[in-house]
Amino acid sequence: MPDIINIEAEAARLRGLYGHLDGARLLEALLSDGLDGKIMMTSSFGAESVALLDLVAQVDPSIPVVFLDTRRLFGETLRYQREVTELLGLEDIRIVRPDTGHLEELDPDDMLFTRDTDKCCHIRKVLPLDKALLSLEKQGFTSWITGRKRFQSETREQVDVIEASERFLKINPLAHWTAEDIRNKVIEKNLPPHPLVADGFLSIGCMPCTERSTDGDPRSGRWAGKQKTECGIHMPRAFNTIN
Ligand code: SF4
Repeated sequence: MPDIINIEAEAARLRGLYGHLDGARLLEALLSDGLDGKIMMTSSFGAESVALLDLVAQVDPSIPVVFLDTRRLFGETLRYQREVTELLGLEDIRIVRPDTGHLEELDPDDMLFTRDTDKCCHIRKVLPLDKALLSLEKQGFTSWITGRKRFQSETREQVDVIEASERFLKINPLAHWTAEDIRNKVIEKNLPPHPLVADGFLSIGCMPCTERSTDGDPRSGRWAGKQKTECGIHMPRAFNTIN
């Protein structure tokens, strides 16, 4: 088991030194302070992902990028992942997929999302990612770069640039960025948008649970009509449990 107190103490130390930084300057400072070779990233290759992917590629294109293919993603997302990877020169994409046994047992008709979205997210996102995280931990990775931003939802409005989670330091280089900051960065760097953005999709996850945003709020198209706002991968939990 990891030493949670040490993770929290390290997060506090790093926040004290670098908590005023963001973006590439934050990552560069952390790599110089011992995280080089110990840091990885997760990305959905969604509507806003390219800004952070570009930033990581500029700092160190060999940083592993974990891409969670739930097997319910849009075809456009799968193609975009390949195109952006090649364009930015990302060197280490690790594609993670759900366990086929879990799918056959718990979602044999691929319609579990209509009956229990939490269970569906658990077997298609949380469990496969936890398995990948445990493997990364064994390989010596201690830190996890995420694209979470405060403006995205109520559950994210306290996100800090450096946080402690159960097993990893979480680094959120864009925590304080606004949607406009991201748009400006994408325009400035001439980065390709996800192809569905032009079609009105402002936040893009699995196809069955993503709709066009009708009110300008990027997250309103995710699990529309439900209380659910998070898939669970960033929620506190015990790792590797089926329930
Ligand atoms: S977002 Fe929808 S389809 Fe994707 S894992 Fe969650 S419930 Fe299932």
